[in-house]
Amino acid sequence: MGFESFQGNPQAVASVREMLVSGRVPGSLLFSGPEGVGKKTLAIMLAKALVCERGGGDFCGECARCRKADQMLTSAREDLARRRDIKESARRAEGLIYFDLQIIEPITKFILAEQIRKLRAVAYTRPFEFPRRIFVVDEAQTIHWQAIDLLLKVLEEPPETSTFILVCPNSFELRPTIRSRCTRVSFRPVDEAIIQSVLARDSKLTPAQRDLSARVAAGSIARARSFDPAEFDRRRQPWVEFLEAVADRGAAGVAGNLRQAFEAARGLAENRGDLEGTLHIGYSLLSDLLRLLLDQATDKITNVDLISRLRRWGPKLGLEGIARLKSGLDQAYRLQIRNVNPQLGFETLAIEANPLPETRSA
Ligand SMILES: [Zn+2]
Repeated sequence: MGFESFQGNPQAVASVREMLVSGRVPGSLLFSGPEGVGKKTLAIMLAKALVCERGGGDFCGECARCRKADQMLTSAREDLARRRDIKESARRAEGLIYFDLQIIEPITKFILAEQIRKLRAVAYTRPFEFPRRIFVVDEAQTIHWQAIDLLLKVLEEPPETSTFILVCPNSFELRPTIRSRCTRVSFRPVDEAIIQSVLARDSKLTPAQRDLSARVAAGSIARARSFDPAEFDRRRQPWVEFLEAVADRGAAGVAGNLRQAFEAARGLAENRGDLEGTLHIGYSLLSDLLRLLLDQATDKITNVDLISRLRRWGPKLGLEGIARLKSGLDQAYRLQIRNVNPQLGFETLAIEANPLPETRSA
């Protein structure tokens, strides 16, 4: 237990521990950085360290207060799940109860004004069970605009016994007035070696699957942990078949093949988020093709299990061919994700995706 168990982002951990050891934890903090690197996890660790009976700038996970903190987090999670299931939107934020350690997350697309009103009301009251109250506001960029000024007022006149930790992917999504009130702790993508070691320890993946997972994760431990090789393969297959056909049969029918690949990708996706993920796999293949064509280094290749095939396809497509495929994918992406008429998307695709014959030999 303790900060030792946190993986990656050593500089963020060090700055948090330094605050604790020096006894100068600011009243308002902002944890920002990419998704899936442990921002919320570290915020919760900091919260525990602030209340742990053993103190010493760390938390034990065993004392009464550490265990109480876990109970509070579990209750908050259950409460949130229950609220998300409530059909009538007006009732979702009814009767909120905040613990001394409270996670505040979006109930709908937003963190609702009522959630921030409650925070403000509670923040100035004495904590019940802990020496202080800690509010972790996750996805702070989703705070409803009606509540931003309320939060700002609290941050401007911080209650003595409350600590606020705002968590968000990009601090520039927050209003400058909010940002400037908080001490920043920045997170970076996690090193591949660390992701590999987490996977080697915690997952059932084979070494080859771990290599692929670590690359697809692109610095996100959460993404690496949830990587499903079979599902990834299923989604990638239409693109692989498409590239195989285009590279081996030449330019004739590229548009038809891309259309087929795209329709297959759409067929695999049950919702828009899925489709976006599937299209990203298409992009990852194109950027791998380009990288391998320009530079023999493989350390930035995502689809590591396909390197020999990518090396074969690249020269056949040429730089222009790859660029054309990318612009075809761009068109499809814009039209599909921004949801314009799909037929229109395919017609444009047929024009955009057709590589010029002379460029294929480039
Ligand atoms: Zn403890």
